[in-house]
Amino acid sequence: MELLSIKDLDLKDKKVFIRCDFNVPMDEFGNISDDRRIRSAVATINYCLDQDCAVILASHLGRPKGEIVEKYSLAPVARRLQQLLKRHVELAGDVVGEDAMQKAKDLPRHEVLLLENLRFEKGETENDEVLSENLATMAEFYINDAFGVSHRAHASVEGITHYFDDNKKAAGFLLRKEIEFFDKLINNPIRPFSAIVGGSKVSGKLEALINLLPKVDKVFIGGGMAFTFLKQMGYDIGKSLVEDDLLEDAQHIMDEAKKLGVKFYLPIDVVAAEKFSEDSVIKITTAQEIPTDWMGLDIGPATVRLYREGLADSQTILWNGPMGVYEMDKFARGSTKIAHFVADTYATTVVGGGDTADLVQRIGLDDEMSFMSTGGGASLELLEGKILPGVAQLVKQG
Ligand code: AMP
Repeated sequence: MELLSIKDLDLKDKKVFIRCDFNVPMDEFGNISDDRRIRSAVATINYCLDQDCAVILASHLGRPKGEIVEKYSLAPVARRLQQLLKRHVELAGDVVGEDAMQKAKDLPRHEVLLLENLRFEKGETENDEVLSENLATMAEFYINDAFGVSHRAHASVEGITHYFDDNKKAAGFLLRKEIEFFDKLINNPIRPFSAIVGGSKVSGKLEALINLLPKVDKVFIGGGMAFTFLKQMGYDIGKSLVEDDLLEDAQHIMDEAKKLGVKFYLPIDVVAAEKFSEDSVIKITTAQEIPTDWMGLDIGPATVRLYREGLADSQTILWNGPMGVYEMDKFARGSTKIAHFVADTYATTVVGGGDTADLVQRIGLDDEMSFMSTGGGASLELLEGKILPGVAQLVKQG
């Protein structure tokens, strides 16, 4: 799959609209706690400025649900962008209101305008035609660099693409990098190719698991989703998280793995707790014998050793989903140990999924991984083999 490239556009002196993903986490004081997504967009913005463009940027932040909510204003993003771009960034007072429209119309070359939070407009998440058209009228060119929302058919992501011909729209550098990386990872990996799949539920990753099985050599399961498999194996899982309606699917996945010769690893021991809390009593139990009133909240030390052994010869490692409830220190050990091991291998290592990226970052290992995806849901849908709605119209024809 080849995407329309920003480099093929005749951008010289033009007005360009760039859909970015500035949906960054904020602390309780309203400060940006991680600006990776803003930094990742700088290459595309600077490229356009170097082409003497007038640049209009748009993003959502949080979920204001179609209302103007002060705490979701993009003002802090504008300030951070200003520092990163080392130039003035004008923040519009609205999205497609009088202020934004006027400022977009008057925007001179080399200037940057940031629209207010796209989700202050109800039409954004509804992929509303009028909103798409209003946004499209602001510029002559459209660039999508928002990988993190490209799996959403929203007005600034999908609807807007229909207002630009193929020589007037393209994927930005970040979007292209993400898509190409996953494309190569899934279709042409260096083997052995291992997938570490964790997180809370099987249901959230069922499609991804099924799509990955014919492509990988080994799968390592962790997190809450492991217990549905363990229950299906006939083990006592106590009151661990389980999806009883997916027991058959779990069996199907294990059967498929066997049929395809994929080595399928499940936890052999767990960190069990009496309650879902940091101050709970804990003990290490085998996966077969979790006591009735206890729940498994992390993989145990024997599993960590087993997974290290199994991962050791991997040339490519894809990791999506934590091994335990990493938000609580007591249950973060399994994920932390696996993260260190993955970071230390010489394999190509790819971290996808918001939680996994968050945990790797907390430990300070993000620079040690080959690739950290900026999109959780979007990377998961790529693993499911889907074409993302925001990307579909940016694929090169013929
Ligand atoms: P997901 O959104 O499906 O990737 O799941 C991430 C969430 O799974 C994190 O918030 C973890 O706290 C949670 N999680 C991981 N392991 C477990 C477990 N054993 N029991 C319950 N929740 C878990």
